Amino acid sequence: MDITSSQIEAIVKQVLAGMGPQAVKKAAAPAAGNTFVSSDGGDRGVFTDVDAAVEAAWKAQRKWVTFKIEERQRVIEEIRRTARGHIEEWAGKVLEETGMGRYEDKVEKHIAVINKTPGPECLTTDAISGDAGLMIEEYAPFGVICSITPTTNPTETIINNTISMISGGNSVVYNVHPRAKRVSAECVQILNEAIVRAGGPANLITMLKDPTMETVDQLAANPKIRLMAGTGGMGMVNALLRSGKKCIGAGAGNPPVIVDETADLELAAQKIYEGASFDNNILCFAEKEVFVVEPNFDGFMHLIEKAGAYRANAEETQKLVSLCLQQKKDGSGYEVNKTWVGQNASKILAAIGVQVPDSCRLAVLDVPVDHPFVLVEQLMPVLPVVRCRSFEEAMEYALAAEHGNRHTSSIFSKNVDHLTTFGRLIETTIYVKNSCTKAGVGIGGEGHCTMTIAGPTGEGITCAKSFCRRRRCMLADGGLRII
Ligand code: NAD
Repeated sequence: MDITSSQIEAIVKQVLAGMGPQAVKKAAAPAAGNTFVSSDGGDRGVFTDVDAAVEAAWKAQRKWVTFKIEERQRVIEEIRRTARGHIEEWAGKVLEETGMGRYEDKVEKHIAVINKTPGPECLTTDAISGDAGLMIEEYAPFGVICSITPTTNPTETIINNTISMISGGNSVVYNVHPRAKRVSAECVQILNEAIVRAGGPANLITMLKDPTMETVDQLAANPKIRLMAGTGGMGMVNALLRSGKKCIGAGAGNPPVIVDETADLELAAQKIYEGASFDNNILCFAEKEVFVVEPNFDGFMHLIEKAGAYRANAEETQKLVSLCLQQKKDGSGYEVNKTWVGQNASKILAAIGVQVPDSCRLAVLDVPVDHPFVLVEQLMPVLPVVRCRSFEEAMEYALAAEHGNRHTSSIFSKNVDHLTTFGRLIETTIYVKNSCTKAGVGIGGEGHCTMTIAGPTGEGITCAKSFCRRRRCMLADGGLRII
């Protein structure tokens, strides 16, 4: 039967007429038994009591594990769709509550985690069929995961970990950074509503309204928590590793960059300026110190100034040390003065009497290799640059500055041997050649995105697979094989 275009138009009109507000409301209504009206004391996933938060997440996970992959996909798509509608709001609120970073870069980070965190499709099955039968290995959930999130990417980590962890069939209890608890609570509540709207169970993600170190200990002690996942500094990661629970630890970095004698200097200057100033350098994977091989040092400094950076002189550099860093109480060196973490370069420079426009996003310092700005993870747009006599010296310095975190590093070079040798030596989870380090998490680069880069425990650029257990099913020779 042939249908004319005017008949198709009439049919579409009829269908749309049937989809009034009532029809839309019905489609969006939570599935029966999935409402948040409960006696557990939570408000759309936000709880005051640790055990109640775990219990609610545990009940949700028991339901969630029965959902088909296609149903999980539908929930993840609704999370992405909903989060897209809150990007600007959350970027602004994170900036307001934490007082760190840059609005436009937070928008970019949100877009990256929403669009580039893989869903359940990455949970592939391995199968071996042979004389002795058929074996399959699959990714199964742990159950309830405790996720500790940082102040530097609060909502970005919640969106990213939620997609990864629930794609794997888990539920999550968040212990967020206290300095980002308001915006984190809003994010958890809105994502919970999205999950329920798409037919998923209520309280699939929960969090503590007032998170503390003590609530982390209580969560670790709760037998229903099967996995502790920590994203933040090394103090927290080391505490988790001592907890006796299975842990995924995503700790600090201090990413070094090498610019060798063969580098495209203009590209290096532009990319390092862009990467080291992104969200005011609060990202663990952002460029933290640069080692330039001698013949290129002056040219690099000239070009990074041309790209927009302010080059501090020796006196200003000393003032920046006094302002932004402080001696550790045990006298073992310097640590950051948190007042200046994640602040705009123009604000930091103004505090030492240097006026630059806000469009100047980075200060660069000409310093020796043992300078405190090289050794400390500064998390601010003040970038030390070290002159090196050779590529070998640059590698030695970079290795020492990275402190064995094995987190992130990069190199600008056209020498294939250099690209390979440094990669082998530095052993970082992320190794970027000839671009910003953020390209290593899919921001301007290939590959998926994560805000939980698990170097210490080895999962690397995490996704749903990282938060799953491997399970094997073995069927003895017979029935199901076809050869
Ligand atoms: P932070 O270590 O101060 O806090 C991170 C989280 O851990 C917070 O929720 C905090 O409340 C909690 N915490 C801190 N000490 C703890 C302890 N002893 N026991 C239990 N919980 C504890 O870090 P931050 O300032 O929020 O974030 C910046 C740091 O995190 C930087 O060092 C950065 O490199 C790192 N980071 C790493 C990754 C990664 O993927 N590897 C991602 C983001 C941030």
